[in-house]
Amino acid sequence: MAISLLAKQPKANHVFYLLENSNDAILEVDLERNIVGWNPAAEKLYGYKKREILGKAADILIPENKRKEILEAFKRLAKGYPVRNFETERIRKDGKIINVSLTISPIRDDKGKIIGHLTIYRDVTKHRKLEEKLKAFAKAMDEAPDGIQIVDSSGKITYSNKAVERIYGFKPRELRGKHVNTMNADPKFASLVIIPAIKKFGRWEGELIVKKKGGGTFPIWLTTSLVKNAKGKPLAMVGVIRDITERKKLDELKTEFLSAAAHELKTPITTLKLIVGSHISKHKKLGKDKINLSELVLIDQELNRLNLLINDLLDDARIESGKFSMHFETVNLKGLIFNVIKKMRIISRRHRIIFHRSPSINVVADRNRIEQVLINLISNAMKYSRDGSKIEIGLGEDKNRAKVYVKDYGEGIPKEKIPLIFDRFYQVKEYRARGFGLGLYISRQIINAHKGKIWVKSKPSHGSTFYFTLRKSTNLIP
Ligand code: ADP
Repeated sequence: MAISLLAKQPKANHVFYLLENSNDAILEVDLERNIVGWNPAAEKLYGYKKREILGKAADILIPENKRKEILEAFKRLAKGYPVRNFETERIRKDGKIINVSLTISPIRDDKGKIIGHLTIYRDVTKHRKLEEKLKAFAKAMDEAPDGIQIVDSSGKITYSNKAVERIYGFKPRELRGKHVNTMNADPKFASLVIIPAIKKFGRWEGELIVKKKGGGTFPIWLTTSLVKNAKGKPLAMVGVIRDITERKKLDELKTEFLSAAAHELKTPITTLKLIVGSHISKHKKLGKDKINLSELVLIDQELNRLNLLINDLLDDARIESGKFSMHFETVNLKGLIFNVIKKMRIISRRHRIIFHRSPSINVVADRNRIEQVLINLISNAMKYSRDGSKIEIGLGEDKNRAKVYVKDYGEGIPKEKIPLIFDRFYQVKEYRARGFGLGLYISRQIINAHKGKIWVKSKPSHGSTFYFTLRKSTNLIP
C-alpha cells in the first residue's frame, strides 16, 4: 500500500492536518485505485465511514456510466495533463447521485515516482440544480408570449426576449446596450412621464408609441417596474411589452361600427316617425284621419328591416359570447325552401324568384336557422341586383350531401373580395348597402354549426351564386 497522506503518520505533519480539516471531501487512492485515504468531509459527502471504505476499490463511488471517463482522466494525468474542476457524478452510500467537481493530483515519493492520487471533491449538486432552474427560467422568459425587456439603472437595454424581436423586428443583440429611450417615438415621454412615475411609485403602466425596425411606429402597452435588491437598492427595470396594433384597430372598427349601426337603425325609425307624425297632425287638424294600405305596407316593411337588423346584432352578440346554439331535427329541405320563397315573394315583388325543379331531401338541421340563411342569401340577391332581374334557387345533391344554390344576375363580387365577404362586418362597398356586413358571417356560423359548407362563385357584372351543403338525414318524414 502506498504511503497515505491521510493516514496518521507517526509524526503528524501539517499536510495531514490541512487535508483532514478541509471542507472539501478528499480521497486518496493507490496505483490500483484502491482507497487509502478518506477525510471527514468525504465521510459527510458520501456517507461512508473511513473504516468501512479504506481498502475498497474507488469504483464503489462511481456510477457505471462514468467509469470510462475517469479511466480516461487518469490516462491524461499520466501524460502530464492536469485534471481540474472536472464535473461529473458520483454515488453516495445511500445510492443517491450527486454532482461533483473534482480535481486529481498525483502523489509522488521522494524520488518523484507517482505512487497514488489525491482527489478533491466539491459538491456542486445545489449549483447544478440552481443552474437548471435558471436555465428553465431563462427559457420561459425567452419563450414568453409578451415582450420582456430588462434595462439597467443607466437606461441601457441588457436583455430582450424573442417576443421583443417579433414585435419590434430588432434582434436581441441589436438592442443590447442601446438606450431604451431610442426605441420610443417620443423620447421625451419617457423622461417626463415614465421615469418620474417609476421613481415615485416603482412602476408605470400605459400606452406608448414605439419605433419599428425599418421605420414606422406602432402602439404598445407597457408595464414596467423597478427591480430592487434585498437592501432596496434599484438594480434594473423590467418591462412587459404587448403589441396593441390589432386591439386599437378593433377598437376603431367597433367605434365605426357603432356609428354605422346607429345610423342604420335610425333610417327606418325616421320613416316610421314621419308617417306616424303626419297622421297625428292630420288627426289634430281634422279631428279624424285614415291610414291607407300602402302606408301600412311601408310601415310593415320598415319594421321588418328593423327586426332583421336587430336580430343580426343579437346573433352577433350570441356568437361572440359562445351562446349561439342550434336545435337539430330532421327537416324536409325542399318544403322549407318553398316556404321561404313564398314569404320572400310577399315581401318584395321587385324580383322574379324561380324555384327550379328539385328532389325532396331530408336533412339534419335547425329549421329556423336554415330559414335565416336562405332569407339572407335571397335578400342579398335582391339587394345586389337590379329590380326585375331573376333570382334562381335550386336544391340538389353533392357528395352525398344536400346542396342548395341561390343565383342572381346582379353586380357580382370582385375576385379579390370573395375570400372576405364571410368575415364579420365586411362589406365590399362600405355602408352603401343597407346592412351591417353581418348576414354572411352569421350564415357561415350557422352552416359551420351544421358541419356543412358555404361558398360563392361570382363574376363582376354577371352575378353571384351562393351555395351551401347540409348533412342528409336517414330519418324519413311522413
Ligand atoms: P350586408 O349585406 O349587410 O352588407 P352581408 O354579410 O350579407 O352583409 O354581405 C357582405 C357583403 O358581401 C355585402 O356588403 C356585399 O358587398 C357582398 N355581397 C353579399 N351578397 C352579394 C350578392 N348576392 N351580390 C353581390 N355582392 C354581395
